[in-house]
Amino acid sequence: EYIIQNETLIPKKEATVNLDDRGYYFGDGVYEVVKVYDGSPFAMDEHIARLLSSLNKLDIPLAFSKEKLVELIHSLIEKNSIENGLVYFQFTRGVEPRNHLYTRESTPVFTAFTQAAQNLEDIQKNGIDVWLTDDIRWLRCDIKTINLLGNVMVKREASDNNCHEAILHRSGTITEGSSSNLFLVKDKVLYTHPATNLILNGITRQLIIDLAKRHNYSVVEEPFPVDVLEHADEAFISSTSVEIAPIKAVKGQLSTTFEIGQVTQDLQLKFKELLPKA
Ligand code: PMP
Repeated sequence: EYIIQNETLIPKKEATVNLDDRGYYFGDGVYEVVKVYDGSPFAMDEHIARLLSSLNKLDIPLAFSKEKLVELIHSLIEKNSIENGLVYFQFTRGVEPRNHLYTRESTPVFTAFTQAAQNLEDIQKNGIDVWLTDDIRWLRCDIKTINLLGNVMVKREASDNNCHEAILHRSGTITEGSSSNLFLVKDKVLYTHPATNLILNGITRQLIIDLAKRHNYSVVEEPFPVDVLEHADEAFISSTSVEIAPIKAVKGQLSTTFEIGQVTQDLQLKFKELLPKA
């Protein structure tokens, strides 16, 4: 198994981390996860654009060209013979003696690895339970930073309560999942939080919104309160790794259940049609 360190493919066991990497001390870096279908990375342009946006928002320069980045990722997929799976890649700000104040003199450090796909049949078909809890994250959730402590803590809390995902609210307004976006369906209209600083604007979220509009569903991107969950007909989460997973029950600060509805199933089907054929 190979990984990429800076601009080189090397066997994973030969990879090293510099203690003075700001990613290690501060979580000072950004990342992306791209899904590979039938040997090809899906929605690569969108992921690269979001990576550049995250880098820009954190004042981290791009260490090498966009073209080089794409080429490296393709070469890793090929080297590890990934047919269906994920590519994870990140840039940290770079290596310098630990100090909150960064110098703008370090070179960002690039790392990438691949993973085989997990089997999604069960969760896509039968749905998941989710755990409603407080959004304890910072106010720049639009940046896809590797600093994910809030997300990590609520994910553990959800799992300890036998739920697959945490759904978060900030003072009673639903934002998103710990590693996914949330959609509600009511009378065939889709509802989801707008792409503000309070959520990560998921690539899957964006693809679903486009897809839904093209198929004449109305999509409302507005904040909504927690109790709207009780009145929705259907709910689902979206992310690169799970695509679309129906929610069958909400637990925690509010309890409610959903049928796995027609709109969710229709969007799942139409989303699959966007994907390279496996
Ligand atoms: N929100 C958060 C907090 C996430 O971590 C993710 C996935 N990494 C998403 C939403 C979904 O984004 P995408 O569809 O681009 O995977």
